[in-house]
Amino acid sequence: MKTLDDYKPIVGEAVVGQLYRLAEHLQNRHFVHINSTAVGGGVAEILSCVVPLLNQLGLKTTWEVIMGDPAFFEVTKTFHNGLQGYKVDLAPAMLEHYREINRQNARRFSWEADVVLVHDPQPASLIEMLRQQSRRWVWRCHVDASRPNLTVWRFLREIVKQYDASIFSMSQFAQNLPHPQYLIRPSIDPLSEKNRELTEEEIQAVLHRLGVEKDKPLILQISRFDAFKDPVGVIQAFRLVRRHTACKLLLAGGEATDDPEGPEILARVQEAARGEPDIQILLLPPDAHHEINALQRAADIIVQKSTREGFGLTVTEAMWKGRAVIGGAVGGIVLQLRDYHTGFLVHSPEGCAFRIRYLLHHPEMARRMGKTAKEFVRTHFLITRHIRDFLTLMILMNNPDNRLIQL
Ligand code: UDP
Repeated sequence: MKTLDDYKPIVGEAVVGQLYRLAEHLQNRHFVHINSTAVGGGVAEILSCVVPLLNQLGLKTTWEVIMGDPAFFEVTKTFHNGLQGYKVDLAPAMLEHYREINRQNARRFSWEADVVLVHDPQPASLIEMLRQQSRRWVWRCHVDASRPNLTVWRFLREIVKQYDASIFSMSQFAQNLPHPQYLIRPSIDPLSEKNRELTEEEIQAVLHRLGVEKDKPLILQISRFDAFKDPVGVIQAFRLVRRHTACKLLLAGGEATDDPEGPEILARVQEAARGEPDIQILLLPPDAHHEINALQRAADIIVQKSTREGFGLTVTEAMWKGRAVIGGAVGGIVLQLRDYHTGFLVHSPEGCAFRIRYLLHHPEMARRMGKTAKEFVRTHFLITRHIRDFLTLMILMNNPDNRLIQL
């Protein structure tokens, strides 16, 4: 099992030492994280890395996953789409079902916590049943809530305002709420199976096993099959590039158990890719961390052409691997990619095609941007920085009598 000390060679002794010092203030406190899927998507990715390390630091941290039926996840995907700005319909029966499934889940939970952190809208209404079971409740929003659909937000706001605080990934997502709001950037774990260093043999073995032939420059997008990830836009960009420059496109991704829209989007992607032999679509199982790591390292250019994005861990992962990354100029991607320095931001399939072509014709520039990107991630988006922010916030929230605390 990895320990915090294993991070010292990557981020330095001082950074790790500070985490031990901060954690001293929180020994034996009980924290509960709640989300709606154990695998698939960025939240599960983060919790699976962060929770074990918090326990190592002496915080009693548990992670609960709520259960729901397909109708529940239809409703919560509607919330998700609405929060990210889509026009959606919400029938009263849908809202009642959402609350009913949360009531059923609430009966399973009997902890007494210092702080409960509820991730995204799916489990948000648990607070209505379980308020007494924790001293503090924090709502952690991971989605791009920069322009929420008002019907959805008005409903969710009535629930969220019962919390003691909320956390967003960037200031543009913050809302009009009657409690303190905090900004914490997400992160990746450089020692996880998804991000650890791989040998060339390991990379080649994965390519061979997945049937990915690297006979031309490889362009890759890894993501759930979700409309906001714009896989069809990536195909349009690729078709424009392919007219003049030989290359291949790989779209790889799987499903998250809390996302019912995957099959429909996948069908649209397959339709858009029809008749193009240089486009490969790979369906990955939810635990394909090693495979994703290898694909990201094998790719020449990594694209994340989202039209909305809470943060975009796939961008961070690609940057950490020293890849040249092109991302949609939305949400958290903007925090990560700086034009000509750490990557390229684009606004359309045409812009994406332009940047792919540029990078294919300027491999030295691509390498330089990849190097800068890696150092940018080291400074801003690794798990140690994330844990530091989290510990600091928890210390603040556990200081009701305004004691003087040395951070
Ligand atoms: N991911 C995965 N399998 C997939 C697609 C994505 O393991 O088929 C991972 C991906 O590597 C990243 C996370 O899931 O760690 C996706 O996070 P991101 O913030 O990019 O998007 P989200 O899915 O949360 O909207």
